[in-house]
Amino acid sequence: MKRFISDADAMERLGADIARAWRDGGILYLRGELGAGKTTLARGVIRAFGITEPIKSPTYTLIESYTALGVLSGKSLPPLRIYHIDLYRLQDPEELEYIGIRDYFDEKALFLIEWPERGNGGIPTADLAISITVLAAGRLVTLDNSAF
Ligand code: ADP
Ligand code: MG
Repeated sequence: MKRFISDADAMERLGADIARAWRDGGILYLRGELGAGKTTLARGVIRAFGITEPIKSPTYTLIESYTALGVLSGKSLPPLRIYHIDLYRLQDPEELEYIGIRDYFDEKALFLIEWPERGNGGIPTADLAISITVLAAGRLVTLDNSAF
């Protein structure tokens, strides 16, 4: 599925739509150049799960985590951990071992992963891959799952 997204607010709304359709744990890849809007979309997903604290970019921390306490845009849902991961600063996929990334993926949680290509081999394959292309104005977002 492809969608044209005109601005950052619409990008967050798309994130919320994805969260409502997905509702569950899994591996979501977020691809696109620097400034494409990956973090903005992830913020929309995370906020839809009822997280009210500020959603920072994990560019420096690599991983930011949240606990969704059972609401998704007002509807009740079992509690879910959310990991927002940004692998941009990774020099080598082997660094993932030092972080103990495998232990994270043992958990049935929702993983939003920016720059998944840098984790080559060290992270699970995607349940849903989202690619963002920067246009002269706005963005084109491609979702590669049949659910959308
Ligand atoms: P990334 O995580 O891909 O590096 P960000 O989510 O940090 O990108 O967004 C970079 C900038 O692009 C922000 O200023 C954000 O508000 C803006 N932005 C996000 N989505 C869109 C969009 N669909 N159209 C125009 N600007 C957008
Ligand atoms: Mg980002």
